[in-house]
Amino acid sequence: MPIPNPNGGALTEEHVQIRESVRDFADREVVPIANELDNKAAEIPDHVVRKMAELGYFGLIFSPDYGGSGLDTLSMAIVAEELSRAWLSVGSVMTRMIITASLVQANGTEEQKKKFLPGLCTGEILAAAAFTEPDAGSDAAGIKCRAVRKGDQYVINGEKTWCTWANKAHLLCTTVVTNPEAVKKHNRLSILLIPKEPGDGFHPPQLAGSPIPTIGYKGMNSYSLQFDGYEAPAENLLGGVEGKGFYQLMSTYEIARIQTAARAVGVAQAAFEAALRYSQERTQFGKPISDFQVIGHKLAHMATQVEAGRQLTYHAARMKDTGKRCDLEAGMAKAFCAEMAEHVTSEAMQVFGGYGYSREFPAQRFWRDARVFRIFEGTSEIQYEVIAKRLLEG
Ligand SMILES: Cc1cc2nc3c(=O)[nH]c(=O)nc-3n(C[C@H](O)[C@H](O)[C@H](O)COP(=O)(O)OP(=O)(O)OC[C@H]3O[C@@H](n4cnc5c(N)ncnc54)[C@H](O)[C@@H]3O)c2cc1C
Repeated sequence: MPIPNPNGGALTEEHVQIRESVRDFADREVVPIANELDNKAAEIPDHVVRKMAELGYFGLIFSPDYGGSGLDTLSMAIVAEELSRAWLSVGSVMTRMIITASLVQANGTEEQKKKFLPGLCTGEILAAAAFTEPDAGSDAAGIKCRAVRKGDQYVINGEKTWCTWANKAHLLCTTVVTNPEAVKKHNRLSILLIPKEPGDGFHPPQLAGSPIPTIGYKGMNSYSLQFDGYEAPAENLLGGVEGKGFYQLMSTYEIARIQTAARAVGVAQAAFEAALRYSQERTQFGKPISDFQVIGHKLAHMATQVEAGRQLTYHAARMKDTGKRCDLEAGMAKAFCAEMAEHVTSEAMQVFGGYGYSREFPAQRFWRDARVFRIFEGTSEIQYEVIAKRLLEG
């Protein structure tokens, strides 16, 4: 029985082809391993990451002058959606390179663009984002991690937390305090691109890391990091000028939120498809449970919610491609899709009944994964703050 596969309406032939080719890769290489690896809390296999790099997923939206594919934001959203439909963690690998390369492309010096962008696009440089600290999450400007210039190096001391994929990364894209004396707290920050060797051992005692146990989003570990005199080249200060970090970081919020909304659509789509299939296979009272009107309506509601989230996300992506400010649209898409994914995945578990609670079926994985969307890339409360401010601007 064919699974409804909404094409998002008015997609170009190129966008449809992108969706089909990513779905083909994800169905072949990711779907068969996702549940087993999630159950073992095992990391995404390196060969899957290499394949995504070869397929160009990390450099989709970046300039061909620096090794990217020069595609639009909508293409990036479709890729993120399809990979996340297979496994959220796999759809989240590209997030790190997209955030870091967006920061470099928008704010880096010419030397920094040449140094970092080609490697980030091809996956030779794998990145992780180290913005959050134990005492500063939503309040991104409230960080304490300090970087002090010493000759041609910065010496870094402080803590970061929730740095996802820090073990695999060659480069930690990190917010640091370089100007503690600045009157406005937002002017204290810089972004430093901190090189490290990939591997679980980090670089003790100057750089230590330990994974944080989580309920979902397996496949990638998120790390607490301690910097104790770790050094990074001063030439890696983003843009070459201290005190600009907060504003540089804000320049990536729109793209990161669109990418996250697309990931939520992908997870919700997977849950909906699984529920639809199961409802036609499972019989109770002598007929498929899909014949019960209440289940049919549940499926109809789920499909409607997923499509609404998809269209909000694609709208924000199209706005981004016009070059217009789209923090309102990106915030709405991110906030809506986070809640939508939590609801749709929970409803999918309900359709599965007791089997929905079993780790042998993927419904519970979709639900555990979906819960994170309201927390990371700006909590839902922060999204609504952004949306309210824009609405009340007058
Ligand atoms: C699985 C996972 C992966 C992550 N990966 C990364 C990563 O790779 N890199 C990285 O830097 N970070 C990462 N994060 C961190 C994530 O971005 C933060 O958890 C998030 O920004 C929230 O910060 P916090 O946890 O400190 O919560 P807090 O900021 O302390 O918020 C706690 C509660 O207060 C609310 N709140 C806070 N301020 C306001 C306000 N002004 N108005 C209304 N409500 C408010 C929040 O919405 C929330 O409900 C990850 C988190 C998770 C769970």
